[in-house]
Amino acid sequence: MATPFFRILLALIAIVAPAAISQVARAEPAQAVRVCHAGAALTETYAQIAQDTARWTCGPTNWSILPPRTILRFELPGTGTPPTLLITRLTRFSAMRLTVIGRDGRSVSRDVTQSSMVPGTADWVMSTQLPQAPVPARTVIVQIDNPRHVGMLSDARLGPASAGQGGTLTDELALAALCGMLAMPLLFNFMFYRVLRRPFLLWHAATALFMAATTLVTSGVINRFAALSLTTLCVLSVYTWASGMVTAAFFSADLIEEGMIDVHHRRLLRLTGVWIPLWSTFYLFADGPLRAWATPLYFMSFLPVFGVFAWVMTVARLRGSRAINFQIAAWAPMLITGLIRVATGMGATAAPLELQFEQHLSIALEVIITSLGVADRFLLLKRERDEAKAEAHRHRQEADHDPLTGLLNRRGLEQRFAMLLASGFSAMAIIDLDLFKMVNDTHGHATGDDVLRAVAHVLAADDQTLAVRWGGEEFLLLLAGTDIAARAERRRLAIPVRVATDVPSLNRLVTASMGLVERIPRDGSDLSFSDLYNHCDRLLYEAKLRGRNRTRYGLAGQLALKPAITAKA
Ligand code: GH3
Ligand code: MG
Ligand code: MG
Repeated sequence: MATPFFRILLALIAIVAPAAISQVARAEPAQAVRVCHAGAALTETYAQIAQDTARWTCGPTNWSILPPRTILRFELPGTGTPPTLLITRLTRFSAMRLTVIGRDGRSVSRDVTQSSMVPGTADWVMSTQLPQAPVPARTVIVQIDNPRHVGMLSDARLGPASAGQGGTLTDELALAALCGMLAMPLLFNFMFYRVLRRPFLLWHAATALFMAATTLVTSGVINRFAALSLTTLCVLSVYTWASGMVTAAFFSADLIEEGMIDVHHRRLLRLTGVWIPLWSTFYLFADGPLRAWATPLYFMSFLPVFGVFAWVMTVARLRGSRAINFQIAAWAPMLITGLIRVATGMGATAAPLELQFEQHLSIALEVIITSLGVADRFLLLKRERDEAKAEAHRHRQEADHDPLTGLLNRRGLEQRFAMLLASGFSAMAIIDLDLFKMVNDTHGHATGDDVLRAVAHVLAADDQTLAVRWGGEEFLLLLAGTDIAARAERRRLAIPVRVATDVPSLNRLVTASMGLVERIPRDGSDLSFSDLYNHCDRLLYEAKLRGRNRTRYGLAGQLALKPAITAKA
């Protein structure tokens, strides 16, 4: 079946999965520094619990933000450069106290507020200076109150001054380039939208924008350009991500073709617009006894969203949707990293895995592959629309034109009449073939048709003449410009010549009579189409009465019965 599709899907998984697995392996790093931690009440100090070995966990397990206070103890090796920074996952907290105990047993402490933390510029980290002990440090105690994310405890590490950014300058440049690339689809989405006004193009632009914004924030690159508080960073990271997910769901709901998913599938996708922001807000602002539950509940809230995406994708795929192939490929890496993040956030590993790099990669793949899907859908829809337009044009042409002669028909003229008058056509003539019935009667209907075609050639339109087959063997001319009467007359007189040439089997001349009305005012005021037509028709009738093969002239607004000039052939 669609083997190339599955091959691409497998390739995508192959790109992301090893990176994710290596992160799982990294979850328990070997540290030269021994780290122990203990939960405590806000009234307890390190000195009070230091000797109570039962309360301490040494090693990277048992992390929890349930206790309001957590005390970390870093036991430094005797060798190596002493650390100068505390670096950890960026999150909010209410208070922090750093204590450095020197080898001589003396200690120095510093209280750190949330606002004095420095955010990294190449990762979602924050750092602060350790207080300087007069002699080399033996132990560093970090006392953290009310952290909002367990990663702040599990990811805490000591490092040199250079570690504060969370990555190198190269990382930063690569991340900045990624943010720029993610914003690119904005451009072509707006270009596409000018051609095809479908909401999914705007939803995709919005998704790309939010994904670029979330990457800009969670990669830390934004801290190069703006001095944002920790709270602002946290709010931005959560809401840009939430908005990216919501707009992506709306995008999918509009992108997937008619009939490939049901109304309730689209409705479920759009329900994320309430669900995700709700839990995002809870995660950001839940406090007091709910603080510790904010993270796991927030992570859990994504499970039904993933479920809905997976279900809708499966349904659309089974029903043969083309658009969904791109969506599945685009979302597969995100689903994998997302599921791992959720699983570890809910306690599957000793500490939650941020998978920051895999997240950026997944976002990039999502935006790129979705962009391809958008371009594909755009081209298909545009082709369908162009075909429908051409078809409608063809129908209009057919409805407005006479199939035998190709001239405009009565309907076609009536629709354009006001416009034609306004554009300067100022005379109307009706031309009726003389004794045409006899042609049919003696030479047959087919020859009669040939005659009608020959007449149409004589009358055929130019810039200042419009010819209409009014019905049967009756034609109507609209004329603009100067010398109108003579031009109309020349055409009438050319009929017998052209018919004789085109239909040589005829043994008689086919002449025509004409009624012509001139000087029709531009705005056609006071003259309805039928007034004009009746005027012409009366003139034509007079021409027939007076022996046929002649023209009777009149002026618009006058009655036809006035003495008129008669031209004889
Ligand atoms: P007059 O000079 O009074 O106009 O005489 P006429 O014979 O032209 O007028 P009449 O109205 O009696 O006959 C018109 C004929 O035109 C009758 C009809 O068979 C013929 N006709 C109308 N439409 C077509 C057509 O599409 N093809 C052919 N071959 N004949 C047609
Ligand atoms: Mg006739
Ligand atoms: Mg007639």
